[in-house]
Amino acid sequence: MTGSPPAPFTADDYRARMERAARAAAEAGLAGLLVAPGPDLVWLTGYAPTAPTERLTMLVLAAGRDPVLVVPTLEAPDAEQAVGAPPLTLRDWTDGTDSYAVTAALLDKDGRYGISDNAWAMHVLGLQRTLPGSAYASLTDALPMLRAVKDAAELELLAAAGAAADATFEEIRTVPFAGRRESDVGRDLADLLRRFGHAQVDFTIVASGPNGANPHHEVGDRVIRPGDMVVLDFGGLKDGYGSDTSRTVHVGEPTREEQKVHDTVRAAQEEGFRAVRPGVACQEVDRAARAVITDAGYGEYFIHRTGHGIGVTTHEPPYMIEGEEQPMVPGMCFSVEPGIYLPGRFGVRIEDIVTVTGEGGRRLNNTTRDMVIVD
Ligand code: ZN
Ligand code: ZN
Ligand code: ZN
Repeated sequence: MTGSPPAPFTADDYRARMERAARAAAEAGLAGLLVAPGPDLVWLTGYAPTAPTERLTMLVLAAGRDPVLVVPTLEAPDAEQAVGAPPLTLRDWTDGTDSYAVTAALLDKDGRYGISDNAWAMHVLGLQRTLPGSAYASLTDALPMLRAVKDAAELELLAAAGAAADATFEEIRTVPFAGRRESDVGRDLADLLRRFGHAQVDFTIVASGPNGANPHHEVGDRVIRPGDMVVLDFGGLKDGYGSDTSRTVHVGEPTREEQKVHDTVRAAQEEGFRAVRPGVACQEVDRAARAVITDAGYGEYFIHRTGHGIGVTTHEPPYMIEGEEQPMVPGMCFSVEPGIYLPGRFGVRIEDIVTVTGEGGRRLNNTTRDMVIVD
């Protein structure tokens, strides 16, 4: 994702985003925002340094002032090209000079700033040392919904990423599973995601048999066997926007219990999806999906939240979790991905990316949610 600008957005789009972010910061009682290279900077400016280094790069946003991007002199030409449009100006600093002093000159002496979660600690400490009266807060904590509501162009890119992930599933269900290692199927998934246009593969989970009961398992050397349930969960970035989908397949005919668990997760996923409606709290999606699993007697085996937002990253706010009272807004995009994990035995997860529309939810993943039998 680094290198070229990720998406066909115009200087006006970026200007509007920067203005909105600065305004939201002011409303949140912050003097401004400090944005390090990473998803927030890409979203706000289109700029992703080719190789972020320890040299300080930081966007300074404050309501009523023109945004300034502090960059190392040697990266200024690239930055200039990526974000050359006014009102964003560049302030470069050369090796041997104090990058924190350059940045501090743009800040209020006693200001409290929201700073990117992925800013390097050494930079936060350097700024703090230079401006002892300043304070820093997590940008994501302060403005969790900053990137949550997608515009039409972003939705198109997310839908295209979802379609590419669906095409990946349609291919992977035809490859042999039994007798191959999880890592072999994982490599197939990565190759397919790239073939269907992903520039970045973030994860390719192939969790067979008992490994499926561990939601954090990625791929291992386990050889897949007939009778295994296999959780597949894969995604990455295509044209700067994320995909993330899960389907659970079975090698050969499933047992009645396996079918029942799969049907339960499928029904939970459906109920979670049906709970998607503007104005309804995010936690209702979790409650709706969880109720199905709890009623079927598997409540203690659904051990994670029901979903997470997606955009220029594959995991971001909003989160579909008990306690998240943020109402859903048209344009939000997030996963609905309940699962059941039976320790030592098998797991099932079914995941679609869903966007909120005026009437309800619209799925960006549309492969079958029936249990697929693989060879
Ligand atoms: Zn089985
Ligand atoms: Zn996933
Ligand atoms: Zn997910």
